[in-house]
Amino acid sequence: MSADARAARRQELADRLAAVRERLDAAARAAGREPSEVELLTVTKFFPASDVVLLHELGCTRFGESREQEASAKITEFHETVTEPVEWHMIGRLQRNKARAVARWAHTVHSVDSVRLAQALDKGVHTALEAGERTTPLRVLLQVSLDGDRDRGGVVIEDLPELVETVAGSEVLELGGLMGVPPLGWEPDRAFEQLAQWHARLLRDHPEARELSAGMSGDLEHAVRWGSTCVRVGTAVLGSRPLA
Ligand SMILES: *Cc1c(COP(=O)(O)O)cnc(C)c1O
Repeated sequence: MSADARAARRQELADRLAAVRERLDAAARAAGREPSEVELLTVTKFFPASDVVLLHELGCTRFGESREQEASAKITEFHETVTEPVEWHMIGRLQRNKARAVARWAHTVHSVDSVRLAQALDKGVHTALEAGERTTPLRVLLQVSLDGDRDRGGVVIEDLPELVETVAGSEVLELGGLMGVPPLGWEPDRAFEQLAQWHARLLRDHPEARELSAGMSGDLEHAVRWGSTCVRVGTAVLGSRPLA
């Protein structure tokens, strides 16, 4: 990338980031909440490591990725330039055979939706800890299915208690909270209100599970209204994703 192209992209990202932060501040104020209660997770999937470096220069320290192989390669390339530690979050659907690899780099996984996946991550994190590839437990958010459709990702509500107990019983996983995505065709407020109710119920038995990962570029205001503590924002910061 030429110096001019780099400067232009940096300015574009700075402007978009400022606009998103303004939206978040306004949404928090409208909901009677402190802007600091809602963290911004910048979703960098499909974008190159050079963009992550620019976002880091602009103050971002937490990045979301949705595919293990893409993330692993990007993280290696990013750390050829940046030596400070940052947080990498896995937000996409995760297959059990990728659990071991994700355990090497993930600070948090937002998309844990089955007991078998939780068990695979438990095993992967144990191995990563023994190998010295990580030093901390893996924070896990449970992705819930708001419409009960078992095929579209997310644990259905009937199966949530068993998954909660599996994660809470692990020595190397930390129960961080819940994650949810509005089902197609649903009003965001209906989805996020239901998610907030399930989160409140979880908090009664597990007060440590504070995190509510909800809201993306198009619906973050609605999610903040219903208590989101982490919005996962891609296109509003980076622009339209290139086609794969
Ligand atoms: C891609 C993705 C996002 C970001 O979506 P945008 O609409 O680009 O902000 C958030 N959450 C998940 C689970 C994603 O896969």
